[in-house]
Amino acid sequence: MKYEEMTPAEFLQAIALMPVFFVPTGLLEWHGDHLPLGLDALKAHSLCLQTADKLGGGIVLPPNYYGRPGFSRATGTLTFSEACMDLLFSELFEQLTKVGAKVIVLLTGHYGPLQVNFVKRVAEYFMAEHPATTIIAQPEYEGVTIDGETPADHAGKWETSLFWHFYPDLTHMERFESHTPRISYPDPPNDYYKESEEWEWQDLPRVASQKLGQRAAEIITDHLAERIRTALAAV
Ligand SMILES: [Zn+2]
Repeated sequence: MKYEEMTPAEFLQAIALMPVFFVPTGLLEWHGDHLPLGLDALKAHSLCLQTADKLGGGIVLPPNYYGRPGFSRATGTLTFSEACMDLLFSELFEQLTKVGAKVIVLLTGHYGPLQVNFVKRVAEYFMAEHPATTIIAQPEYEGVTIDGETPADHAGKWETSLFWHFYPDLTHMERFESHTPRISYPDPPNDYYKESEEWEWQDLPRVASQKLGQRAAEIITDHLAERIRTALAAV
């Protein structure tokens, strides 16, 4: 199931069974005092593995940590230009098509308009030139509602719960402090958004839980698996 762990024979067998490739993507980005910098890609990776498990097939790439701006000025965040990311993903899609992908799932665990619009655009451009490849490019919360809410935030109730469920050893609720992002770096020279002005932290220790994360993961991966089945049926 994990690309990097497969032998060539296993790889060919997996593609013959189901020509689906998962690209879990995120960013190295500040996620409060209680969560690690690589949360977005790690979360996306676990959701891809769980979805592949439900499908009974598919090959999951290692997490990709490079993406478009998010909390660019906060501690530890690394961001990349659209030109750089465009090349990376266009060539990756090209390479995955070469090895046999019919459906590519680009699941972004990092959100914000710059990232989400980017993944959709790069997928659309590729599909226009390569009609035999279907790319499902989306943040994990897309199309999902849980208890009347979209399960999406930044290190808030949903993201903390999801991550806590998948990575309890990397989640440090005792270090949680409610504050706006601590600005560590000057404004970047080009595109980013002013993250702190929109910041609103929830009452996290009261609302986040591993149990909620488990439930959200089930609903998200059920929904994603269904999208992939529909795409596969049209291949
Ligand atoms: Zn995040």
